[in-house]
Amino acid sequence: MAEMRTALGMPITHQTKTSKNPIIQWILDVWEGFYTVLVGMGVTWRHFFRKPFTVQYPHEKLNIPKQARQRVHVDIDLCGGCLQCDKICPAGIIKIVTAKPVAGEDLGVRPNGKRRALHIAEFTIDHSKCLYCGLCETVCNDDAIYMIPDFQYTTRSLEQLVVNYSRYSPEERDRVVAAAAAEKAAKQASKPAVPQTKVSDPQPNIPSPSVDSDVFNEKCPGPDGEFK
Ligand code: SF4
Ligand code: SF4
Repeated sequence: MAEMRTALGMPITHQTKTSKNPIIQWILDVWEGFYTVLVGMGVTWRHFFRKPFTVQYPHEKLNIPKQARQRVHVDIDLCGGCLQCDKICPAGIIKIVTAKPVAGEDLGVRPNGKRRALHIAEFTIDHSKCLYCGLCETVCNDDAIYMIPDFQYTTRSLEQLVVNYSRYSPEERDRVVAAAAAEKAAKQASKPAVPQTKVSDPQPNIPSPSVDSDVFNEKCPGPDGEFK
């Protein structure tokens, strides 16, 4: 007969005995209860002297792997405003507003030596909806957006998890965006107007290409494969 085992694979060595004599049955029941308490306490005492598997968080913390995906962070000084992270984010939680500098305005150079070509007027991430996929980090050519080892950023409201990394205040953002839009409109207004062709205007008579049948036939091989 196959050995009986518990769900955890432990062999079942103890079997309940029964008796028709009520006195003996009572003694067997008492022994049964005493035996199960002994087995349970044996497990308890074994684990009592073992090293604990858990830590006293938050006073103690486990080492988290370096490549763990945790909180997304933006180094706004490195950002070039290319919008690649915004476009690839599957959750659509990155919002970037850029504006071109007006004529004569120099935005200087970024810490990576590249010229700063755009105002990063707004750069918000809604961390409450982040999927921790890391795609934004992967597509950034300037290493401006990346994961940092911080998983403890609970807040009392979801609004607090919408973080704006831009250095521009709302007023400055509106100012640079309006200035860029005004300059663009002025450039377009200064361009000479391109005359629009109306449908009712007479259209030039363009001859349609015709096929010279003689030339066409001359260049076609006959049934025997020879040119005539
Ligand atoms: S980790 Fe994924 S979901 Fe989170 S901001 Fe980056 S691209 Fe979006
Ligand atoms: S991909 Fe990088 S450089 Fe481009 S907007 Fe995002 S953070 Fe900035």
